[in-house]
Amino acid sequence: MTRVKLQGTQVVVVGMARSGIAAAELLLQHGALVRAVDQNPMPHSSIVVEPQQDHSFIGADLIVLSPGVPADLPAIEARRRAGVRVIGDLELASWFLRGRIIAITGSNGKTTATAMTAHILQASGIPMQVGGNIGTPPASMVQTSRDDQWNVLELSSFQLETTESFHAHVGAVLNLTPDHLDRHHTMLRYAEAKGRLFANQTAGDFAVINADDSACAAYATQTKSTPVWFSSTRQCSPGAFLNGNNIILNGQVLMDTREVPLRGLHNLENTMAASVMAQLAGSTHPKIRAAVMTFPGVEHRLEFVRDVDGVAWYNDSKATNVDATLKAIAAFEGGLWVILGGKDKNSDYSALAESLKQKAHGVFLIGAAAEKIAAQLKGVTATVQANTLEVAVEQAHASATAGDTVLLAPACASFDQFQNFEYRGREFKRLVHHLRGRA
Ligand code: ADP
Repeated sequence: MTRVKLQGTQVVVVGMARSGIAAAELLLQHGALVRAVDQNPMPHSSIVVEPQQDHSFIGADLIVLSPGVPADLPAIEARRRAGVRVIGDLELASWFLRGRIIAITGSNGKTTATAMTAHILQASGIPMQVGGNIGTPPASMVQTSRDDQWNVLELSSFQLETTESFHAHVGAVLNLTPDHLDRHHTMLRYAEAKGRLFANQTAGDFAVINADDSACAAYATQTKSTPVWFSSTRQCSPGAFLNGNNIILNGQVLMDTREVPLRGLHNLENTMAASVMAQLAGSTHPKIRAAVMTFPGVEHRLEFVRDVDGVAWYNDSKATNVDATLKAIAAFEGGLWVILGGKDKNSDYSALAESLKQKAHGVFLIGAAAEKIAAQLKGVTATVQANTLEVAVEQAHASATAGDTVLLAPACASFDQFQNFEYRGREFKRLVHHLRGRA
């Protein structure tokens, strides 16, 4: 796909958070005439941000969307029908990014797998920079990109949805479970958005795919690149799988699973995916093993907070959907008190019933979704309406006894009571650090 000439081109950038600002700055550097709009314009030091209105798009030759902006807004659809090119910030950045790309998507585990891949490359002495959904927006990575360096990108379905020519040398999809259906409307469209990762790959590229997830495995038939697999249930080649306590990578033992410093089978899946990617980028078995062993984990992802009177407290505030909560519960033997709730994303919480029945003494419900969750989990386990996180922590502290675990893995978004999941996680940790032991 040819990129448009930007010099003198009228471009509207929609959504002026970090990705949009970075896209606007990149466009300005290339001589585009940029109009920056946002539904809720905030003043910015270098860019004038206008309120977004239907007429904002009139006269644009190109529209660049931030990941936070729905690609099917009526005003944007109308311009698309009129022949105006509409792309996302990732597509724009990819026109200028130097060096090869490792791109990671999936419903859950993206940040963990991306951070681990970057950590392994760095520890292996392979030049890389990391960004995308995980932090630095792709457009801000352009200036620091180099031909001999890997760009490790965490990509969401929203970033992928608006690509045209974007192309990753190594693309990975970790899993596909219901999420963001408020924006993509159907599972099919969500899967299609993620599938864009493989659409432009060619014969020399690699598609790293979860062999245990049938929706992901289907991508292998839709790409020209070479599939490389990972699996926690079956042997696969080329790729990585579990054999008893060993992780096998391309036919050789990589490491013992007990050497992986993260809890849960899902994190072994992330480790296998990251190891496959690191090997494709030139790392070796011993270097990958050593790097995995020093991976510090990512804040708010099944993060151990503290032990109080023999009770372990874990912060998985990033468990913002039902599948992530299921994985968090599965990472423990039992004795759980789970804090659930927040802003509902049209989820089905009854999917938690079986594992809660097996592993939980009780649940504490917070936030706007509390009543829906209580109704869907009726009779499953002891349920307390705590309303706030503060009360949930207090009550869990009063209920748990030595050997138990209190787990914040809310299965919901945080926006009803918190600015985002990071604030929720930090508040949880603050409350837990203030608890007093009985002794
Ligand atoms: P993402 O960036 O895709 O949201 P994270 O690494 O931030 O992924 O993890 C999101 C949530 O999903 C966390 O609660 C984490 O514990 C859980 N999780 C991590 N990896 C996986 C996986 N491979 N499968 C399912 N859940 C996962």
